[in-house]
Amino acid sequence: RQKQYEKLRDLPAVTKDGERIALQINAGLLQDMPHLAESGGDGIGLFRTELMFMLSHSLPRVDRQTEAYSAILQEAKGKPVVFRSLDIGGDKILPYLRQIPEENPAIGWRAIRMSLDRPALFRMQIRALLRAAAGQQLRVMLPMIAVATEMDEARALIDKEWALAKARGSLLPSELLIGAMIEVPSVLFELDELLPRVDFVSVGSNDLMQFLFAADRSNPRVVNRFDSLSAAPLKALKMLAGACYRHNVPLTVCGEMAGRPIEAMCLIGLGFRTFSMAPASIGPVKAMIRSLDGSAVTDLLDDLLVSGSGSLRAEIEAFAARSKV
Ligand code: PEP
Ligand code: MG
Repeated sequence: RQKQYEKLRDLPAVTKDGERIALQINAGLLQDMPHLAESGGDGIGLFRTELMFMLSHSLPRVDRQTEAYSAILQEAKGKPVVFRSLDIGGDKILPYLRQIPEENPAIGWRAIRMSLDRPALFRMQIRALLRAAAGQQLRVMLPMIAVATEMDEARALIDKEWALAKARGSLLPSELLIGAMIEVPSVLFELDELLPRVDFVSVGSNDLMQFLFAADRSNPRVVNRFDSLSAAPLKALKMLAGACYRHNVPLTVCGEMAGRPIEAMCLIGLGFRTFSMAPASIGPVKAMIRSLDGSAVTDLLDDLLVSGSGSLRAEIEAFAARSKV
């Protein structure tokens, strides 16, 4: 199997009906970067910056962060890298930051909420990213956006750092793209407000499923009751894909759903064309894509979503077996 996937590495991820799919990898440390060339990935669709902060004994200052992000960009060798701003708080506690214990950390003071309330840390990170990406493209993605106007608040902080760097005469990035993660259900109901404010969006399906079903992603007693291939999340994702198409906003999935071939098959049927996943998933997902007729999946889901409830996995797997995907 592994050998078979290696042979696929330099072949494009194109469906039988000619749709080119971009396959990127998720990373979080410099040690992950060799996987980019090994997997043949098209870039880093999610770089989890908080890992460096969690492994450090003290707050990484701007210089250390700049060095770390520069090294990542260098290793990416011109392929795009999406840096996610700090997703800490809740259960991801940094020993050197004072934090108040919370009853429900997953829906507590975390990610962008913390960045907007205590902007010093966020601004330090932006400063480091602007320096690291001097003269090149910089992509920044904001986690846990729940309301479209949070983008305005975050952008105002980013603008301040941009203006400061400019006033200093520093070389700036050649292009700055700012995106939102789609992982809080509320934002699905104000996409017409959100999408004009962003350069791209990426679905964090791990959190999105957790919040759609109100089922703790780390608690097997509840998480196994709910399937991502159910009518509700598939309808939500279909609506999102349609809105992104209308607003001409690039759309990715970077949660674990993207790395599972059957799930990725359905996402293609719903209109998704870019995925970011663990490096080991690229081979199996690419093999699926190269055997797939995407429009047949679109038709299947159109039928299933009319009156389906709960898990549609059995019907979807039967389709995949029937069509030898
Ligand atoms: C997600 O929520 O799907 C995601 C990609 O982010 P994380 O798993 O780091 O929360
Ligand atoms: Mg998440």
